[in-house]
Parts: sequence; structure tokens; C-alpha cells
Amino acid sequence: MEQKKVGILGGGQLGRMLISPAIDLDIELHFLENDSDAPCSAVSKNFHKGDITNEQDVLGFGRQMDVISIEIEKVSADALEQLEKEGKKVFPQPAIIRLIQDKRLQKQFYKDNHIPTSDFVLIDNKEELIKYLTEKTKSDSNLFPIVQKLGKDGYDGKGVQILKNVEDAKQNGFEAPSLLEEKVDIEKEISVIVARNEKGEIAVFDAVEMVVNEKYNLLDYLLAPAQITESQKEESIRLAKEVIEKLGNKEGINGMVGLLAVELFIDKKGNILVNEVAPRPHNSGHHTIEASTTSQYAQHLRSILNLPLGKTTLRSSAAILNLIGEENHTGKPFYEGLDKLLDLENVYPHIYGKKITKPARKMGHITILGNDVDSIKEKIDKVKSSIRVITK
Ligand code: ADP
Repeated sequence: MEQKKVGILGGGQLGRMLISPAIDLDIELHFLENDSDAPCSAVSKNFHKGDITNEQDVLGFGRQMDVISIEIEKVSADALEQLEKEGKKVFPQPAIIRLIQDKRLQKQFYKDNHIPTSDFVLIDNKEELIKYLTEKTKSDSNLFPIVQKLGKDGYDGKGVQILKNVEDAKQNGFEAPSLLEEKVDIEKEISVIVARNEKGEIAVFDAVEMVVNEKYNLLDYLLAPAQITESQKEESIRLAKEVIEKLGNKEGINGMVGLLAVELFIDKKGNILVNEVAPRPHNSGHHTIEASTTSQYAQHLRSILNLPLGKTTLRSSAAILNLIGEENHTGKPFYEGLDKLLDLENVYPHIYGKKITKPARKMGHITILGNDVDSIKEKIDKVKSSIRVITK
């Protein structure tokens, strides 16, 4: 295997967890990141300071690399397109990153490709929003509640809101270009991670189930494997493969190369709909580090380097708990109870090394392994109550 310099845009926790499999395969990883306190800075000697949304910074960084990839999609797609023109390998392909950066383009892609997704309309500004809703509500008494999403720059549930009626829209509607989506009657949220290399080989991890924390609208914990029927499992895998193979086809790209997390809704009738995708390692795949034959991080590297993809068999059931910053605590983090956690069997804390904790900030995660989902569920509360991220 030829030694290649791999440049990752972003130096957060997802990048940090790429380091361990890179060490095992002796892959030279570099990171571009503006925040010198970011999770990768303390653990990588190849930490390049620069802004991943700045065209010049990304160009300067990318030109020193053989292969360029991302750990967050909010990057300069212009620079990546230029690097691709200059002959660099950029995976996922820049045109696909550009599409995924905009939820409106993404939704249109599903529609154009007959991939099941909730009904939607594109809205350009607030005036149009009010006009559309006022008109539509006359003929559709079931219009509300309806989901409004910002086309760009929303993350972790920010940029997503539920509008209750026209009055609500007048008060709270987003000004910027957005999507109006039918509110799905969600039974379960699941995620399927799929990888594809340049040879077109595909490997899919089984679905995991996300349990959402209502208060923050953030993932609370996730369960692997998802508690779904055999046919739902097959359908979710089929959909993930279809999405990764069709991405980029309009731009002449024959399928995405890299790792793709496909977030899906199962509605109360049992239909499976694609919500959105992330073309990189994902929160819903952290458990693969301990619970799967290949981790999503190793798989990401294998896919972008056109190596054989790893098997994705689950070695045991698993849960992931996000370790988030406690309310009213901002400053240097203290992981209260971490020593107690380390006493527990089959419990694996991952601390991201962020220098500052803030309310609801993702500071780490904990993976719990078990023979079955019931035994894991029993442990979740115990683990949750034994650790807090606070300041002293
Ligand atoms: P983000 O990119 O910020 O994570 P998402 O599109 O995943 O935004 O939406 C965040 C959450 O909002 C989802 O996990 C889901 O719980 C809820 N949600 C999003 N779209 C819909 C929808 N059409 N119907 C019902 N709930 C939705």
C-alpha cells in the first residue's frame, strides 16, 4: 500500500476518531481547522490552522495533500472543486458536498430520483412563506403543524422549526430560503451508514435507532441494532445503497465515494422515508468502534483510499450516549463520575478533549455493549446518572 497524505477539512471529534485507524494502517492524516483548541489539535502533529470555509485556506492546504476529505460538510466547495480540477482526489466529490450543504437541493435530489421522502415545497423568503401558507390553509385543513427548515447552515436541530399556524409563521418564520415539509408522524428515527469506494464496492452497516432528547432536540441515545422488522431492515439498507449510488449522477459522477450516513424516518404506517444524509462519519456510528468488525472511521479511510471495504457485522448489541455539557456550566470541563464509569464492564467512554464545556455541547460519548438490547437499556440510566460534564 502506497503511503498517501490524507487531508481532512475540520479538526473536531469526528476527525479525532479517524486518527486511531489511521495509525493502524500507517496513513498520514492532516487536519485543517481554525480553532486551535479543537479536538484534533492536541493529538495530531499535522494540525494546520486555517478556515475550512475560506477558499484560499482550503486550496493552500489541499495542494499539499494526495487525497482530501471532510469531517464536517460546511466547507468551501469552490476550493474543493478547484482541487479536483487540479487532479487531486477529493472524496466525497465536491459536487455532492455542495448538494448536501443545501437541504433544498438535497430534497429535490430525492424527489428527482424517486427516493421516498416527505412532501415539501421550496420557499424563498418570509413573504412567500406567509403567502403560501395563507393560501394553502384555505383548501387544506390538515396543513399545520408543518416543518420549516433553513436551506443552509442549520445544524443539530437549529434551523428546524415547527409552525403551528399562519400567525406563528408571521412571528417566527425563517427569512432565508427554506423548505416547508410535511410533518411526518414519526414512529422511529433510524440511521444507516453506507460506504462506497472508487471501484464501486459498497458496504452497509445495519440500521441503528435514534432516541431523541425532546428538550434539546438532540440525539439522546441510540440503539444498535435498531428494533425494526426484517423487511424494514432490508428496505433501509436498500435505500442507503440507492442514495449513495445515485448521488452526483446528474453531474456525471457515477455514485458517491466515501462514507454516508442516511437518516431515515419510519412513520406510523411503517413507511420508510429519507430525511437527510451526512457524507462523513456520523454520531449514529460511534458504536462501530467497539461493536462492529470495522469501525465507521476505518471504513471512511478505506473508502476514500479505494481500499477493500471492511465487513460490517455487529459483534454485539450496543448503545451510544452523548455526553453533553450540563446546564449552567461554561468553562474548563470536569468529568464528574468518570472514574466510576471506568469501573463498569462493557462501558467505553470517549472524551473529545474540548477545552470548554457549554450547556448542551457534545463533549464526548459513551458506548455500552451487551448481549441484547434489554440488558443494555437497563444500564443506560445507571451510566447516565453516574457522569456529568461540569465546571469546578
Ligand atoms: P438537522 O440537520 O438540524 O439535524 P433534521 O432535518 O435532521 O435537522 O431535523 C432535526 C429533527 O427534527 C429530526 O431528527 C426530527 O426529529 C425532526 N424532523 C425533521 N424533519 C421532520 C419532518 N418532516 N417531520 C417530523 N419531524 C421532523
